[in-house]
Amino acid sequence: MLLRRSFPILSRFKHTMTSTSRQAEITDNLNAVREAIKQVNCPQQARLVAVSKYKPAQDLLYAYEAGQRHFGENYVQELVEKSGELPRDIQWHFIGHLQSNKCKAVAAIPNLYVVETVDSQKKADTLNKACAGLRSDPLRVFVQVNTSGEDVKSGVSPADCPNVCKHIVENCPQLILSGLMTIGMFGRDPSEENPDFQCLVECRKQVNQVLPDQSLELSMGMSEDYLQALKAGSTNVRVGRTIFGARPPKEEMKK
Ligand SMILES: *Cc1c(COP(=O)(O)O)cnc(C)c1O
Repeated sequence: MLLRRSFPILSRFKHTMTSTSRQAEITDNLNAVREAIKQVNCPQQARLVAVSKYKPAQDLLYAYEAGQRHFGENYVQELVEKSGELPRDIQWHFIGHLQSNKCKAVAAIPNLYVVETVDSQKKADTLNKACAGLRSDPLRVFVQVNTSGEDVKSGVSPADCPNVCKHIVENCPQLILSGLMTIGMFGRDPSEENPDFQCLVECRKQVNQVLPDQSLELSMGMSEDYLQALKAGSTNVRVGRTIFGARPPKEEMKK
């Protein structure tokens, strides 16, 4: 029944030799990442989010057929399109920079699992307002923390994190504060403890000082560093290239 949504995609697609090997490639990559996650001796089985930005719907469908249900997207328009044509039991993670004027479009996606990138108190208020009337149940959110302090990165500062979290819990009834998220600095030494991940762990402690009953996830780790992140206590890793292969360089990307 759920798969009915995906038939148009399948029928549009010619089953050539290439398609078969692409399916095998994605399935193998996915299984290798799953196995690597299992090998890390982390207390909880972390969730794997397959990051599928710029990848065609057919690629996601191959991962879906291999049992993947959590997918991450960075761009609202792309998420809206893909969520409209792919199976309804996919659990979408919005992981891109969230603009205030796009909050409604994101909130309107019925099978949106979480918005991982709430990066200010104001954004939380805007998203909270957008959800009212559009969603029957409150929406999970993670607060994005700029742990590396890089200007180019979005996110609240570690110092502001507890206040923003408290604000969500106390003033945003349409949102459920469920975790903290960070993008580590690129190019850190994978053989050493990652200071960005340590910082996010510390942020959670600080949040629990003001919200003692709040159980929070840690979304950290990408292709480069997800094993390191798991060792540091990640509960949600976001892996793209290792599953779907390289993306085109930024200039060639549509927006
Ligand atoms: C693109 C992206 C990822 C996945 O990165 P890979 O290096 O492809 O694994 C994870 N998180 C965020 C926020 C991203 O933008």
